[in-house]
Amino acid sequence: MTSIRSIKGFKDILPGEAALWQSIEKTATEVLGAFGFREIRLPILEKTELFARSIGEATDIVEKEMYTFTDRSGDLLTLRPEATAAVVRAYLQHKIYAQDPVQKYYTIGPMFRRERPQKGRYRQFYQINAEIFGVGSPYADVQLIVMLVDLLERLGVTDAQPHVNSLGCPACRPDFRRALLDFLAAREERLCADCLRRRETNPLRILDCKVPGCREATRDAPALSRFLCAECRSHFDILQGALDALGIAYLIDNRLVRGLDYYSRTTFEIQTSALGAQSAVAGGGRYDGLMKTLGGPDIPATGFAIGFDRLAEIVAAGKGTETPGPLVFIAALGAEAQARAFPWLAALNRSGIWADMLFEDKSLKSQMKRAGKLGARKVLIIGENELAANTGQLRDMTTREQVPVSLDRAVEELRRHLGADG
Ligand code: ATP
Ligand code: MG
Repeated sequence: MTSIRSIKGFKDILPGEAALWQSIEKTATEVLGAFGFREIRLPILEKTELFARSIGEATDIVEKEMYTFTDRSGDLLTLRPEATAAVVRAYLQHKIYAQDPVQKYYTIGPMFRRERPQKGRYRQFYQINAEIFGVGSPYADVQLIVMLVDLLERLGVTDAQPHVNSLGCPACRPDFRRALLDFLAAREERLCADCLRRRETNPLRILDCKVPGCREATRDAPALSRFLCAECRSHFDILQGALDALGIAYLIDNRLVRGLDYYSRTTFEIQTSALGAQSAVAGGGRYDGLMKTLGGPDIPATGFAIGFDRLAEIVAAGKGTETPGPLVFIAALGAEAQARAFPWLAALNRSGIWADMLFEDKSLKSQMKRAGKLGARKVLIIGENELAANTGQLRDMTTREQVPVSLDRAVEELRRHLGADG
């Protein structure tokens, strides 16, 4: 019988890696908290309609990447491919805007897309999402970018570069769309089959195509920024001015259209060279029309998603993996010593100290081996002699020095010894 393996594109995050994920998450929540964002936790399963309507029918995600199924009562459900639509759904469903339209949320969790698995691209991947609702000002977009830059800096990512663009609004985008279609008319034969179809459904998406031939064919495509209306122009100018004032180096990237339909005005991405082909570690932008599309009031919004898997890869590459071990290992030899030591172990654990022991009666040699394998800092040895003397031996695993420990006050003494050197 062959053993069962995980599904293609789905991966396990084993304890060594999970420790790094925890530390990244801790830094991220500290940064998000300092910028005024609060956590919101949402289901990973939603009605398919939510994503079809928000992300857009003519996008890769909705056309071919969603995990969609009918449940036993015939409802069409989808494992969320992204978080924004669900955050907006919750905000509208609970009428949070009626109390205070201005809200800043973050959420962390898994997303699902049936893409071609490769390095940095999985079918279940994780994101940190941040959203600002109720603020139309470009300063909200800038705040998101500063927060990303700050987080990446704190995590030691040194080559993160923000790319920014403006997608205009429903007033000015049609002009660009026409100019783009005129430009593409002379280059039809160089486009892939998907892009030929996108000309009818969603021509802006062609600028986001990853096929090299399409990228080449659209290299000199008209720049969206030349078509912005006065309001969108001014919005984009203020954004750039604010980034300049903060000394944040960025690149204006006219091709940055992003893979979801709901964006308007500002779009941005954080690129790093550490990732190879999958160069974007985070992406986001403004989506002023989404609330209305989902049946809510006309409330502006902006947000981003960080690719947690890619972020963890970059951070891991920058530092060696160290596996922390217990502060103390109790080597209890014989049933009597075990019975005596077990309550000490529980007391240490309950007071927040990582202590460990073997629950089997093994020789001193094999217990010391186990302590070494775990990476324990100190080992408390209790054999027959120690029991008779009512005094254990506490050995430092680095210096090999031993000190006596009174067994009547074992827990207090261990705490003191462990606390004394950190
Ligand atoms: P890409 O251009 O790399 O496909 P995207 O524009 O589809 O990214 P978004 O939907 O904006 O990505 O998601 C934001 C971030 O989530 C990306 O910048 C990336 O870091 C990460 N991400 C997206 N798809 C995947 C995936 N399949 N596996 C791992 N991370 C992903
Ligand atoms: Mg994508």
